[in-house]
Order: sequence, then C-alpha cells, then structure tokens
Amino acid sequence: QWGQIKQELLETVGRNNFKHWIEPVDLAGITGDVALFDVPNSFHGNYVSQNFGELMLFKVSNMAPEVRRVDFKVAANIAARPSDGTTRSEQAPQPKKTAIRAFDGPLTCAALDDRFTFDTFVVGKPNELAHAAAKRVAEGGPVTFNPLFLYGGVGLGKTHLMHAIAWELETARPDLNVVYLSAEQFMYRFVQALRDRRMMDFKEMFRSVDVLMVDDVQFIAGKDSTQEEFFHTFNALVDQNKQIIISADRAPGEIANLEERIKSRLQCGLVVDLHPTDYELRLGILQTKSGSFLKQYPGLNMADGVLEFLAHRISTNVRVLEGALTRLFAFASLVGHEITLELAQDCLADILRASERKVSIEEIQRQVSEHYNIRLSDMIGPKRVRSFARPRQVAMYLCKQMTSRSLPEIGRRFGGRDHTTVMHGVRRIEELKVQDAQIAEDLEILRRALEG
Ligand code: ADP
Ligand code: MG
Repeated sequence: QWGQIKQELLETVGRNNFKHWIEPVDLAGITGDVALFDVPNSFHGNYVSQNFGELMLFKVSNMAPEVRRVDFKVAANIAARPSDGTTRSEQAPQPKKTAIRAFDGPLTCAALDDRFTFDTFVVGKPNELAHAAAKRVAEGGPVTFNPLFLYGGVGLGKTHLMHAIAWELETARPDLNVVYLSAEQFMYRFVQALRDRRMMDFKEMFRSVDVLMVDDVQFIAGKDSTQEEFFHTFNALVDQNKQIIISADRAPGEIANLEERIKSRLQCGLVVDLHPTDYELRLGILQTKSGSFLKQYPGLNMADGVLEFLAHRISTNVRVLEGALTRLFAFASLVGHEITLELAQDCLADILRASERKVSIEEIQRQVSEHYNIRLSDMIGPKRVRSFARPRQVAMYLCKQMTSRSLPEIGRRFGGRDHTTVMHGVRRIEELKVQDAQIAEDLEILRRALEG
C-alpha cells in the first residue's frame, strides 16, 4: 500500500523531490488516527513534514480513512528523541528552528512551527480572551498571572498560541530562557532521566527556565510519578516568579486522574478557554489562508461563495478547515481548474459529509414556513404566488447551502420540482441576498435557528 502511495507521490512531487525526500521514508505503521513514518534523521523529518506532510496525509487518508495525522520518527536510535514531526534537530541548519536555546545536551525540546505566530492567528469572539492573555504574556513583562492556563477542544489554536508566545519572546526578550514542550515530552524526558540516573541534571535544567510552556497537560493524568515531578517543577518555578503557560483540552477541574493539589495549582493563575469557532472566525481564517494560497498558486482563481460555503459547512476544528483548503488548492492546481463550489463539493465530499450538520430538508422547510407564516403544504405545493414562491426559494437556497443534497433531490422533496427550478430559486436568493436587506436578515435568522 505504501508502495502504491509512493508511486502516486512520485507523480505529484516530481522525480527529484521524490528521490531525495520521499524515497528514504518508510511507513512504520498506523496507530489509531496517526500514520507513523520512519525518516533517516530529524532534519529530513522536519523537511518532509513541512513540505510534503499535508500531501502525504491526503494520500494516506485516501487509503486509510481513519488517519487524521502523520508523524515522523527517526528510524535509528528512536528512543533518543521525541518522535513528533516537529522535533528539534541538532543537525538542522535552520536558524529559526533553534529558537529554544540552553537545552542542548541531554534535553532537547520541540521545535517551534514558524507558521504559528501572532501574525497568522486570526482573532474572533471565540478566542479573543485567550489571544489577549497570550499577547500579554508574550510581552515578557513582570509576571501578573501564573500560570496562564489555556484550554479548549482539539484544533482550536492552543498550540498555535503557545508557539506564538515563544516566537514573540524570542524577539522581545532574547535574554529569557524559554522552553516549550508537550506534556508527553516532559514525561519522556523525566523517564529517560530516571533511567539514565540523571535526575539532578533534569531538575537543574527545568529549574533554570524563565518561561516554561507545557502543552496538552491532560496527558500526564493518571501518570503518578510524572505528575509528582511536574508538581515540583511547577512549584519551583512559581516560587522564583517564572512564567508558566499550560494548555489542556479541558478545564483544570475537569481533568480526571489529576491530583487535586495540581488542579488547584493550575487554577491559581488565569484560566481562559478557546471556544469552538463561529462562522465569522472560520470565514476569517479561510480568507487569510486562501490569501496566502493564492499567492503560492498564481493563476488559480476562486469563485465567489466558496469560502462562505466552507465556513458554513465545515465543523469548528480549524485543523480540518485548513486541511480542506489545502486539499482544495492542491487539487485545483493539479487539474488547473478555477476553484468553484462544485469543485469544492466534489473534492471535499468526505470532509463535508463527516462534518455535516444534522439539518434535514424537512427541518428547513418547517422552519422557513413557520418564519414566513405559511403552511408547509403551501411551501411544497404547486401554487406560484409570490407569498409562497419566495419562502420556497429561501428554503431551497438553505437546503443547497446547509445540506449535501443534490439539486434534483431537493427538487423532488419540493413537490417533485425540476432541478432547474431549484437552481433558479437558489440563484434568485443569491441575488436578493445582496440587494434586499430584509431577505439577508431572514436568511441569517433562519440559519441561526437551524444551526441550533
Ligand atoms: P490545538 O493545539 O488547540 O489542538 P492548534 O494550535 O494545533 O490546535 O491549531 C490547529 C491548526 O489550526 C493549526 O494549523 C493552527 O495554525 C490553526 N489555527 C487554529 N486557530 C487559528 C486561528 N485563530 N487563526 C489561524 N489559524 C488557526
Ligand atoms: Mg495542540
């Protein structure tokens, strides 16, 4: 299977890239939703991850739909380093990747992703508090709240914000020793230190940090000795008035199997959550992202309405949103098409289906007829008077936007109308939406009601 994917990659990336970068990579296995690849060294892993990671994910997930992530580990000497694609590589001649100093020697930290900066972080209602708090910490001024605890569901920007803080501190306070790592890496380092009898080094190093960021702290739940060590590290740094930033997928109090004393410690500072994205934020992110894609792929065009469609239809997880856009551009650039709604629906069918809201045609019809105060039978029935025809068109439009039903199918469900009638209705509402404030408002109200 990997052989076949490789073959496809060869066609996409070209012979040179292939020989140099893809050929030496092996699929080590798939665990859960992660496809793990063996790479010859961490520089190679970083390069492949950054340049072909998205593409590989796309290819692999075509064959193994459960795969949502690709990871890279160094094939030889695996135990010596953490195995995520962002591992800092000692050999890597990439100046930006050495943002974290002082941890050479036995302790290496995760590299920072240079796309995760404040510049690329789109702020909206759901994340404005988290963003403001992160900004404050990134100034590197006197510690006012400790720790900063960021929590929220997967793909909402926790890691992005933490990296952004680290990048900003790099410039604002180059004198500070900033360390970012995942809780998993913390545990790994701890276990390794125990095994190598280097606990003194471990303690000394962690206690010499000025700003410590630990990502996904829920990972240490249930891991007693790691918790214990984390607690001591945490206290030692807080006592010295060093800034700590923690992230987790839920609030401190809700992390099961985490010691009470740790929970209460984590709650001492500022606890802020990243809410699920709303439509406006998703649209903002899509606009920013597609702007940079359009620069990367000059010659590609995007039809109106595509981003709005995606913002409506794809769930709250920003990673999924980005993945969809990446695939769409990759696909369009391969086939040399304009990016249209149809292309998006076609090439993102699986993603759209997976994040489909459970809105049915019936619900839309019911909601719309209630809104316009007409009977459901009149909405579906044959009468063409304006007072029925307009709500009918609104409902058709919403069906097209909010469900993945085809035009003929929508037509059938509207009393057996032809798909051209549906198309006409949808177009009419698209026009009216910009000309007629009342219609625009109706649509907004209806959509909110239907999204629940
Ligand atoms: P988390 O750590 O919360 O699971 P990440 O920080 O890894 O999520 O974010 C997932 C992806 O979504 C990343 O590529 C990140 O850049 C992007 N992302 C999340 N929120 C935003 C945002 N507000 N603006 C721009 N990109 C975002
Ligand atoms: Mg994360």
